[in-house]
Amino acid sequence: MDTNRVRWLFGDQLGPHFLDSPDQAVLMIESRAVFGRRMFHRQKAHLILSAMRHRAAELGDQCRYLQADSYTEALARIDEPLEVMQPTSWGAVHFVDRLAREREVERLPARGYATSREQFATWAETRGRRRLLMEDYYRDARTRLDVLMDGAEPVTGRWNYDQDNRKPAPKGSAGVGVPEPPWPVEDEIDAEVREDLDRWQAEGLRMVGQDGPRRFAATRLEALTALEAFILERLPTFGPYEDAVLSTDRWMAHSMLSAPLNLGLLDPLEMVRAAEDAFREGHAPIASVEGYVRQVIGWREYMWHLYWYLGEDYRHRNELAATADIPDWFWALDPDGTRANCLSHTLRFLREDGWVHHIPRLMILGNYALQQGWDPAQLTAWFHQSFVDGYDWVMVPNVVGMSQHADGGVLATKPYAAGGNYINTMTDYCGGCAFDPKVRLGERACPYTAGYWRFLHRHRERFAGNPRMSRLLRNLDRLPDLDQLLSEDPT
Ligand code: SF4
Repeated sequence: MDTNRVRWLFGDQLGPHFLDSPDQAVLMIESRAVFGRRMFHRQKAHLILSAMRHRAAELGDQCRYLQADSYTEALARIDEPLEVMQPTSWGAVHFVDRLAREREVERLPARGYATSREQFATWAETRGRRRLLMEDYYRDARTRLDVLMDGAEPVTGRWNYDQDNRKPAPKGSAGVGVPEPPWPVEDEIDAEVREDLDRWQAEGLRMVGQDGPRRFAATRLEALTALEAFILERLPTFGPYEDAVLSTDRWMAHSMLSAPLNLGLLDPLEMVRAAEDAFREGHAPIASVEGYVRQVIGWREYMWHLYWYLGEDYRHRNELAATADIPDWFWALDPDGTRANCLSHTLRFLREDGWVHHIPRLMILGNYALQQGWDPAQLTAWFHQSFVDGYDWVMVPNVVGMSQHADGGVLATKPYAAGGNYINTMTDYCGGCAFDPKVRLGERACPYTAGYWRFLHRHRERFAGNPRMSRLLRNLDRLPDLDQLLSEDPT
């Protein structure tokens, strides 16, 4: 082994598990080109820069922190051989591969995920497996990693508590009875980041959204504090209300840990072990703990592996031939761009924080885009830029596969399309809206309800052979006013 080697850490490889020894030589590069290549939410740009600069300050002399216009320019200043852990996008992997043809670079496997690429491939290619179902993957991961297991069986005998975790929004209430997460205290590094971003924007860098106060952990210590507070104060309530949405409480009992987790500040296994301990010590009910474990080593890792396993062209899939452009107000996260109360509120929260939880993402934002027939590639870029925890690997499968059904059903057996009734049940938005979720025609027609039927009609032939869609298509056929519905303005 070359002892001169320098480990180049990307901005999402910031935790101690990305080092092999406490005094390892580290390189970090803050490339301005990264922030010009695509639009960023200002809160996200702040978080990434703050996290990188905090990590560099922690590492002190052992880290060379270069600020440059591009990675290439910074790397020209480094003579030592490099080692690089697999980055988190196809684009970055190709960059490292090109680099390795020009200079000495040792490429190492990815870290920060509980399941390796080889383990996923073994699971995916098991003889007789016809579909890559998340539930099957999740059970395999639980068994292999021995999480919430008693021997070969799931603890309590049940794998899945989804049915217990779908309580509707407690309408009229200001929250779900948990304290707010422990907010980070900004320091001089955050002040510097804010100044730099102000200057970059004055120089022409385009960003979207608001910056501050910083809402998400940027250091390992902040991330551990947030994890501990979640386990103690919020996890017991997380499960039942994980799918509910309240206009009065944008955080509810969610962990807010996806951003620091995707920055590499936390390891997924330490998170699920902490949740499991809470269950085994009698502090949190199984439904909440199982729901949380499912998100961390189930959904998240399933997305990560599918991103690689389904190949680089997967991002271009557009099986529903959705080609409409996303309107400017949506790109700008402008809550005044729509009179739909649910969508307007969601855009306002997103503009302020760069974050809403998975149900507004899937059932308010994604569902609307699906009904409007917006181009899934544009929508992937929109999600990537708008969310503090958005990275290519997570947004491509989430948007193309799960949210927009653009892969024709590889990830999800049916599209996540729903009318206003679902939103009325799971949120408290409809009471204050100009529209009525039960109405599909005229002035008071809910855009989600009308949009849902138009969507089904548009894709009637495609879904005709899908047994999970047949009841919905029969309901469509029974609509007495379908012709009128189709003739009204769909916006
Ligand atoms: Fe959203 Fe329709 Fe409810 Fe208004 S009525 S909040 S548009 S679901």
